[in-house]
Amino acid sequence: MQTDFESLAVKGVQALSPYQPGKPIDELARELGLDPASIVKLASNENPLGPSPKALSAVQDALADLCRYPDGNGYNLKQALSGRYGIRPEQITLGNGSNDVLEVITRCFAAPGDQVVFSQYAFAVYPLVTQAIGATGVAVPAKDYGHDLEAMASAINERTRLVFVANPNNPTGTVHGAGAIEAFLDRVPARVLVVLDEAYCEYLQGGDVLDGLSLLDRYPNLIVTRTFSKAWGLASLRVGYSVSSPEIANVLNRVRQPFNVDSIAMAAATAVLGDEDYLRRSCEINAKGMVQLESAFREMNLAYIPSAGNFISVDVGDQAAQINQSLLAQGVIVRPIGGYGLPRHLRVSIGLAEENQRFIEALARALKKVDVTDRAGA
Ligand SMILES: *Cc1c(COP(=O)(O)O)cnc(C)c1O
Repeated sequence: MQTDFESLAVKGVQALSPYQPGKPIDELARELGLDPASIVKLASNENPLGPSPKALSAVQDALADLCRYPDGNGYNLKQALSGRYGIRPEQITLGNGSNDVLEVITRCFAAPGDQVVFSQYAFAVYPLVTQAIGATGVAVPAKDYGHDLEAMASAINERTRLVFVANPNNPTGTVHGAGAIEAFLDRVPARVLVVLDEAYCEYLQGGDVLDGLSLLDRYPNLIVTRTFSKAWGLASLRVGYSVSSPEIANVLNRVRQPFNVDSIAMAAATAVLGDEDYLRRSCEINAKGMVQLESAFREMNLAYIPSAGNFISVDVGDQAAQINQSLLAQGVIVRPIGGYGLPRHLRVSIGLAEENQRFIEALARALKKVDVTDRAGA
């Protein structure tokens, strides 16, 4: 008899489907026999500007110490974060990407039988880690594609241990202002932890913008997570962190791996925090690219979900899968989000102006092709 190893996996893991990442450039290049340099990837909300020169030079300097273990306490990076954001180092928990921190938080505070609340269409990692540890995920129906914070507060019961709020949310780009988030936090019992995932907060601009860190003193059950993967342009190095009360950070630090962030990643992250110019340019490129895509969608009569992030999800109709295939064949990678329950939408990261233009032209061709096929089939 052969052993069925899958059946030996713990229950939550057996039913798990792995996280679907954006298609890597090299993979598409291999499949289509294309030059990788000719491919435009707008699928993973990466910074199109390339890494900051300050980060690159810090990486160079860090190479000489590759034989050493990294500083497991992340002293330098915590000092830099502390200086920039006015928080104390003992409030910070570093992670191998904020993904790592999200997982550690869930493992520390939820167990089988407990409930974890998040929104429909919210970031895929929340249901994934919840299920992996055997807790029960409660997906609260979205309102206008965004978090229905009132319904989420009402979904909390005695079994609820954790609530995830992505602000802005991925893949919808929806965002709540300070007032709405505070009203929500006021309704959450103190024994329930709220994770406010601010992966895209650097891109926020305008009036009612929330800085989650400013709420930590008033809401001791709040954990804010942030990342260096998006506006800071270091997705490959995997650095993220949470900011919380020192008590919560203390718990998280017991469970995280002792050397979960490597020395190169920490050096780059520490350096980029001092590159104000890089952040400003990243946000400018993003704001311009957003306008470029929005006006192209309007011209093509496509509905989109207004986004506060560095990506936008557009409704391309019920042929979305075919349109995505056509884009791939043209060397343009975007993200289908059927797995999020949005089968008509494609999520497009904001690129450089010429990358956005490549996508817009490829999309126009793809739409035309599908239209012709439709009519031929009718
Ligand atoms: C990209 C993203 C993250 C960050 O992922 P990292 O692990 O830090 O690269 C976290 N939350 C949301 C909502 C995201 O879109």
